[in-house]
Amino acid sequence: MDMNAFFASIEQRDFPELRGKPVAVTNGRTGTCIITSSYEARSYGVRTGMRLPEGWRLCPGLIQRPARPERYAAVSTAIMEALLEITPDLEIFSVDEVFLDLTRCQKACGSPVEMVRRAREVVSRVSGLPCSIGLSGDKTTAKYAAKLVRPNGLTVILPWEARARLRDVPLTDLCGIKGGIGGYLAARGIRTCGDMEHLPIGELGRRFGNLGRRIWYMAQGLDPEPVQARVPSPKSLGHGKVMPPQTRDRETLETYLLHMSERLGARLRKHGLEAQIFAIGLRRDEGFMSYPYRTLRPTDDSREIYNLGRAYLADHWTGWGAHQVQVTALDPRPNGTQGDLFLRENEKRRRLNAVMDQINERYGAFTLAPASLLGRSDMPNVISPGEIVKCCVCR
Ligand SMILES: [Mg+2]
Repeated sequence: MDMNAFFASIEQRDFPELRGKPVAVTNGRTGTCIITSSYEARSYGVRTGMRLPEGWRLCPGLIQRPARPERYAAVSTAIMEALLEITPDLEIFSVDEVFLDLTRCQKACGSPVEMVRRAREVVSRVSGLPCSIGLSGDKTTAKYAAKLVRPNGLTVILPWEARARLRDVPLTDLCGIKGGIGGYLAARGIRTCGDMEHLPIGELGRRFGNLGRRIWYMAQGLDPEPVQARVPSPKSLGHGKVMPPQTRDRETLETYLLHMSERLGARLRKHGLEAQIFAIGLRRDEGFMSYPYRTLRPTDDSREIYNLGRAYLADHWTGWGAHQVQVTALDPRPNGTQGDLFLRENEKRRRLNAVMDQINERYGAFTLAPASLLGRSDMPNVISPGEIVKCCVCR
């Protein structure tokens, strides 16, 4: 399911005077990059990624609206939660896209087509917004189908017809095929899904691993990746480590805090979670000194978590010796609806983290890490997350 012109549709719903008018949503009042636009604007040729002056040239009546990320995130959350009424097997793919796996509820709920019609009614009831739906036997074909008719489309591609339907579709139209692997395929003259039949799966597997094999299947309408259903978030998520007794060197303490922050950030990202409240603690002979700290917005970025650790040292550490360090996310939650979607700096960090996570996933934890962690301790991690939460609550 793909919400249609999501941000622009919300603007038009919240401000009736915008209905039926060409609207462009930009990054803040002074931002000139068009994040999305209403269908009225699109009919003039206005496109996402275009600069405002270009938009005004094509469509002189184009109305600029500064983005309201918190508002969009709230609407998205309401929609996703309401869709749980249709199936619990739901993967939030982005702020305006979601996969619903209907496999397990067919007996109870009727045919898949009836179920997606109901899903659209649910979305309409809680948000009043239009969405397009693609129904098929695998995620990639369904996502492709959802793009075919907009707004308010419903496109069914029967699983056994998927291969034929995708045959002439450019590979780049499928979810996630671009960059390195896209270039590799293009260089071999493989442009459409049908062309993929000329390439042995082993070749893509050798060159690109599981991703290569997955793309080979995706092109046949046989994407093997299951819908990654939402799992209930853990109550807390933390990392702790024993330090040598009476550690009182600031640089050493900072290294331990950075190490734990890196591990926690990687774990949050791996599970698609973010948090805003973190308990930072050091254990000394007299007991555990743990205090909650808060980031400006929910985050999964190790660097931001580490900054809280430094704040802790500045606020509470007066040079005493400690022998344990702990960094815990107290309110982890799914990150599908982050409000800082538009902050360029965060986007840079997000991409950096994604690349680092991919490398570390493949070659082992901390293959790529901040240079200051080269001297980190290899002592075992000891404290269970539950323990630290108790410490924090009883303070
Ligand atoms: Mg959309």
